[in-house]
This record gives sequence, C-alpha cells and structure tokens, in this order.
Amino acid sequence: MSKVKVYLTDTLTGEKVELKPVEPGKVKIYFCGPTVYDHCHIGHAKAYIQCDFLIRLLKYLGYEVKYIRNVTDIDDKIIKRAQREGKTPFEIAYKFYREFADVERELKLIPPDVEPFATAHIPDMIQLIQTLIDKGYAYVGKTAVWFHVPKFKDYGKLSKIKLKDLVAGARIEPAPDKKHPADFALWKFQKPGEPAWPSPWGPGRPGWHIECSAMVLKHLGETIDIHGGGADLIFPHHENEIAQSEAATGKPFANIWFHVGLLQIKKEKMSKSLGNIIPVKEVLKRYDAETIRYAYATTHFRKPLEFSWDLLDQAEKSLNGLYSVLFELEINASKAKHGEIRKEIKEALEFFKNEFINAMADDLNTPKALSVLHEMANYARKNMNNFNAKEMREFAKLFRELGWILGILQQSLEERIQEFKRRGKIVDFVPSGYIQHEIAGKFTERLIKLIVDVRSELRKRKMYDIADKIRDELRNMGIVLEDMKEGTRWKIMRI
Ligand SMILES: [Zn+2]
Repeated sequence: MSKVKVYLTDTLTGEKVELKPVEPGKVKIYFCGPTVYDHCHIGHAKAYIQCDFLIRLLKYLGYEVKYIRNVTDIDDKIIKRAQREGKTPFEIAYKFYREFADVERELKLIPPDVEPFATAHIPDMIQLIQTLIDKGYAYVGKTAVWFHVPKFKDYGKLSKIKLKDLVAGARIEPAPDKKHPADFALWKFQKPGEPAWPSPWGPGRPGWHIECSAMVLKHLGETIDIHGGGADLIFPHHENEIAQSEAATGKPFANIWFHVGLLQIKKEKMSKSLGNIIPVKEVLKRYDAETIRYAYATTHFRKPLEFSWDLLDQAEKSLNGLYSVLFELEINASKAKHGEIRKEIKEALEFFKNEFINAMADDLNTPKALSVLHEMANYARKNMNNFNAKEMREFAKLFRELGWILGILQQSLEERIQEFKRRGKIVDFVPSGYIQHEIAGKFTERLIKLIVDVRSELRKRKMYDIADKIRDELRNMGIVLEDMKEGTRWKIMRI
C-alpha cells in the first residue's frame, strides 16, 4: 500500500502538495498539544481527532510514523488560574493533564510517541534562546528576552500577515523594553509569586512559542515533514515557531503545514470568553467516541465545522446503519453456504478499498471516504442473500480494516450494545437472528419457539384473541412475530 501517494493542503504555499518524507518511508510529525489549564472541549477534540485520521492513514499505508505532541504545562493562563484558586500552577496543570489523558483514551486517539512537557525541556529552550541571541535574532530586555521580529526577513510567510499591518493592528502585547512592537518573548523574567527556573539571563520561565521549536529540534530534528495544529495557531504561534526555528538552524522548519479548521457553535468560535464551551466529557456521556469521530469526519479537516446535537444524532444514525450491515455479515457468515470468492465480488471489494484509500490520501477527504463506506454497505445489503460465507467474511473484514483509519466500526456487537445500554439508548442495530446465536443461546431460542408453537396451535383452534395477546405482549418485549404462509417467523428488535 505504500505506493499510494498522500497529498495534503499546505498552509504555507496554500497548495495541495505530495508528502515526500525527508527520510523515505518515515514521517516526522509534530502537532501542538494542549495547554492544560481547563477542560478539554469539543473544539480541541476536532483538532486531535482530525490529526488522528492522518496518523492512522500514514500507519495504515505502512509509513514509520514518529509523532510528537507537546503539553504546555507552564503558561500565563495556568498561573492565573492557580492564583485564583489558591493552588500551585503544577496542581492545575496536573489535574487538567490527567483529564486530557482520559479524553485521549476515550476518544481512541493514537497516543504520540513522545509527549514532551514544557517544564521538562527548560535546558533545551535555554540553549535555543542562547543560539538566537548569539546569531543576533534575540536580545535581553528588562522584562524578558525578546525575539527581534524585523531581523527575520520571512516573518509573516505562513499567516500572510505583513509586519507593518501588525504594528498598526492591536494583536501585539505592548512592553516598554521591546525594540520593535512585534517582538515576542522567548524568556519571561520572574514576577513575584510566579514559578521560575534559573537561566543565564536571570530566573524566569519560557514564552509559549519557544517550547515547540525546542521540542521539534530535540525529538525530530531541524526539518520535519508535517507540523500541525488548530487553525487558530497559525498566528502568532506557528509564525513565531518558524521565525525561531529557521533563524536558529537556517533550514526550512516544516515541509507541510497541516491546519485543522475550528469548531463553531452558531457561527462563533468555541471559547471561554464567549461562554459556549462544551467539555468532551459532557458529550461522551451522551454519545460514544465512534459517533463523535464519525461526526467530525463528515466535514473536510480544513473547514470549520458547525457543532450541534443534531449533527451527533445524525452521525449516530449513519454509523449504526453501517454497523447493522457489518453485524449482519458477521453473524450470517456462520450460517451461509461455503464457496470461494467469486470474481465480481473480489473486484467489488478491491473497488471499494481503492476508492476509500484514494479519498483519504487526497487531502484526507473524509466525507468522501464515509460515502464510500455507505456505498459498500448498500452493495453488501443488496447482495447479502447471494453471498457465500467467505464473501461475507471478506466484506466484514474490509469494513473493519477501512473503519480503523477513521477509528470507527471497531466494536463487537456486544461492545456496541453495552455502549448504548450504558447511555440508556435504544439498541436498533441488532440484526435479526442474533438472539439465537449470541446472547441467550439455545435456551431462549427454545423458550420463544415454544411460545410461538403454542400460539400457532391457538390460531389453528381459532382462539385469535389469546394468540393476538401473546403477539402483542411479545412485541412489547421487543420480540416481533410475522405470520407467514409457511409458519410464524420471529426476530428480536431490541434488547
Ligand atoms: Zn506549538
């Protein structure tokens, strides 16, 4: 599969470019992780899930992926919250980091290979800042060590923001000891009550941007294949990362800039100041991880996604539609006739697989990939009666194989039933015939058969009122009877 070429839209050039790893076969990817000062919300989850689609695709295609995602555990916001709550910044950071780790596990995100913490990389950052001072890109001020933005000629190349517009605008922090209004802090000197680390320029703590440059350098090297993050990080964070890294090494920092569009609620960005934050934990109480992942896959990763509960309801329905076909294939395979895979079925399997992979490799076109899964489900449903056991198994296997790339269709029927029961939801994806084989076994089957036989006897004796009562009571229990010419059929509609 490694012959498939992967294309991604690169924010720097604005074009769809082919992924050509610096070291063939190995992809080095850095994705900006959380600042652990508050709950992980569903806006953050969009960035991590859509990055996860990329990681999974690359792994599926056989690339050796080295994936680094940092944790910002010291920052103005963490310090502010700690002061407000009478705690240390480390207590705040640890508490929300643990919550983030839970969310990561529950959303079934593939964990990074290294998850570097800012506070564990202070010496690396000090070294990088010293290099920038030595090369004349940074200077020591009264309140901070500053990066001198006008010295870096390419500043603004990622965000397309011009330095002169920046000075006129209000997007920069004023400080009297800056040489230029756009200069940003690499090292902030300690203020009373703030945590600090020793440095050659005095005790203090790192600025936010420098940690990512230092961690990329340490864990991945001077030039990496993909650098990603939410679209809100393009400016100033990623612009500043480029300035620091390229000024220090003189080499291109990242070959592809991968930016995930933001989640919106009623056209507004989800943010603390707007008070429209929904923590991931809250959503997980109502929907399982696969449903959330499916919902995010319905929109291209670069686009903003309008969040609503309706979106999740629709996603749940669509996903269960796929699951019901998958489960039917898996259950029927044990009863179907034997035989080899026929040529046209083999071709259909190859067609769906190629369509899906090509959609994903073409700038992670997840909406197209989902539509391929639905086409495949329609095909399988239409042809189910003619499939032999092997054909059913191959279709089921392909659903699970392709679903893995999106992190969906990975549950067994029992697991999915448990997910729905836990949330008090109706289980409407169980294929007919399942009860006989999987849940209650032969005993329940015989019991229902006995009731059905007795009812048939009653009908023969024209005791329709009692027969109808039995049918209605069974229906209330979720067992549906169908009277056919050749006898009565039954199936379980819910459990
Ligand atoms: Zn970063």
